[in-house]
Amino acid sequence: MPIYEYACSACGKAFEYLARTLADKPAKCPSCGAKKLSKQLSAFAKPAPMVRGGCGSCPSEAACPAAGAPKSGCGCAGACGGH
Ligand SMILES: [Zn+2]
Repeated sequence: MPIYEYACSACGKAFEYLARTLADKPAKCPSCGAKKLSKQLSAFAKPAPMVRGGCGSCPSEAACPAAGAPKSGCGCAGACGGH
């Protein structure tokens, strides 16, 4: 299910909305209750940015033995299981 980003025209509150169908949209601003909402270009449709630190293939920096190591590239020699 796509997540869309809306912004309230009344208070400027930006919020994410999980659309269950293509026609689904938020009824009102979750902050002030205004119904004037504008759909924003969603950044959530893009793939999530790679985890910073580590080798970029590990689920998290903490899971990568190479995290913090002053090496170029991965450097974890497959120990993280992400290769
Ligand atoms: Zn609002």
